[in-house]
Amino acid sequence: MKLKVFDITEEGYELNLSEDIVLNEQYAQKIPVEAHLKLYRDGASVIITGYIDTETVLECSRCLETFNNGLRADVNIMYLPSKERGLMDERHKLSNEELNTGFYSEGLIDVSDLVSEQVSLNIPIKPLCSVECKGLCRMCGTDLNSEKCDCDEELTDRRWLKLKKIIDERKE
Ligand SMILES: [Zn+2]
Ligand SMILES: [Zn+2]
Repeated sequence: MKLKVFDITEEGYELNLSEDIVLNEQYAQKIPVEAHLKLYRDGASVIITGYIDTETVLECSRCLETFNNGLRADVNIMYLPSKERGLMDERHKLSNEELNTGFYSEGLIDVSDLVSEQVSLNIPIKPLCSVECKGLCRMCGTDLNSEKCDCDEELTDRRWLKLKKIIDERKE
């Protein structure tokens, strides 16, 4: 969905968006998003604030199970015409540091891009199904959340076995 910058009024308006988006290659599935945004224009700059709710399916970085992850991404962006990209550094100092800056060209802001970008930014790099996830056994791969295995990590660790052998040999 693209918006014409000069259709956005200075008083601003609300935009409620609900669509299925594809985030990127990593998350190939389409995910439903609900965006509640407020848009204002000040001259050529556009300020977009609000939030995006979505539910993604992630793979736990410890146990590799997939799980649903509800996510709310806050949006706080200022869009400038792309020709101002060069002035960015100076602008940045002047603008609120909390405010991210984006650029638009040909007088159009792609809201769908904004939404997938903001959601991507909020997806954890190492997702966890639960903070208490026990993960997989390093020896046999058993999911320790649901099963117990007989591996004794200390004894089966190869380096430890070697060391133990040396100690045993010395004792003899
Ligand atoms: Zn897990
Ligand atoms: Zn095991």
